[in-house]
Amino acid sequence: MTPPPSRKDSETMDAEVREKIHLEILKRTGAYHANDHILLPSGQHTTEYIEKTLVTTEPSFTEGLGAVIAKHFAPWPIDVVVSTGPGALILSHCVARAHPSRPTVLYGTKGVSGGKRRVTLPVEFHRLIQPGTKVLVVDLVSSGATVRLLTELVESLGGKIVGVGALWRRTKRSDVDGKTIFSLVSRDFPTYAPETCPLCAKGMPLNREFVKRRDERKPSTAQEDDE
Ligand SMILES: [Zn+2]
Repeated sequence: MTPPPSRKDSETMDAEVREKIHLEILKRTGAYHANDHILLPSGQHTTEYIEKTLVTTEPSFTEGLGAVIAKHFAPWPIDVVVSTGPGALILSHCVARAHPSRPTVLYGTKGVSGGKRRVTLPVEFHRLIQPGTKVLVVDLVSSGATVRLLTELVESLGGKIVGVGALWRRTKRSDVDGKTIFSLVSRDFPTYAPETCPLCAKGMPLNREFVKRRDERKPSTAQEDDE
């Protein structure tokens, strides 16, 4: 008979199973593509891709995923949920709806000025973040860059960051400046320069669909994809 797994092992296993389930949910929205040979906007090649625009198209899935994030942060009182951008607003709403503190929901807006990425909060929201306001930041697919800018902005208004929740964390680091990112999926996929791409070497056809779609979109919405 095999001994029962230790507590640590079963926790790790649970996390892996949960991650698989969440990945499967994202696959069903059509947002997650795997086992392909994909051209990225950066010119790099990869095997996996997530289309942010599609991740919140199934209301019941979004509600379920938002509830998981809310449950994780349930022990902490939260006054405000701030979305990193309009794209993450639907998920933010679902997180706020499921959180026992019944927080309000705000969103940041992303843009580029003077060649630098910027995140701002509509001025109407500023009075809702005051010294001591407890804030949960919510992002969809995060490499941490936008989260960092938004966190700095919230703290400059006196807000206290309780944590960061995301559907998908695309970085090995599990924290941004000491704030833990709780994500349903933590997965970064390798990207290759065309010269060293193993898929090119195998002669696999290159899928240019996502770069094409991105270029067809208005520049203002394309910025949401830049992270
Ligand atoms: Zn390639």
